[in-house]
Amino acid sequence: MILPIIHYGHPVLQQKGAEIHKVTDSIRQLASDMIETMYASKGIGLAAQQIGKALQLTVLDVRGADRPSQLFVGAREMSLDIMMPLMLLNPKITKQEGEEMGPEGCLSFPEIYTDIPCASTIHVSSTDLNEEPIQFIATGLLSRAVQHEIDHLNGILFIDRMISSARKTLEPDLLELKAQTLSELKKHHKKASRGV
Ligand code: ZN
Repeated sequence: MILPIIHYGHPVLQQKGAEIHKVTDSIRQLASDMIETMYASKGIGLAAQQIGKALQLTVLDVRGADRPSQLFVGAREMSLDIMMPLMLLNPKITKQEGEEMGPEGCLSFPEIYTDIPCASTIHVSSTDLNEEPIQFIATGLLSRAVQHEIDHLNGILFIDRMISSARKTLEPDLLELKAQTLSELKKHHKKASRGV
């Protein structure tokens, strides 16, 4: 099922996600719906906050992207076709190396793109949908995407990572988007309180 994506201005985007200790059928269904939603939106990653749930769950798939990625398990480079889509529960960055600037966008900020600094290489420790631990090293676009998604799971948005001049330039667009989201939320609340 394709789920509606929450836009900037909704408070759930700034909530830290609760850790998931038991993978229930509803978590499995949620992960599968998130993957469907990510593909339908042509995104390369989606965090649970973006569909309105403050949980430590994110899905990623960088195969269709125009920038390269590498994923290593131990010393071995893995084929992205084997590893994607990635479903990560309670992921943490245990080590990071290097820094780079690159263009970034977010499904919760339609049509807003800017250069964002991020670590070049990250070591990630996570759990998969079988409650098994998974550890990997990511470089390139995957490294950037995983950092972006882990930020979401902690209530941090890419606008919090922008350099101040970029943030200033985008401020009018951000204010407009926030106002639009809040007015839609208000409409929704009014409807809900009337019981329709
Ligand atoms: Zn995002």
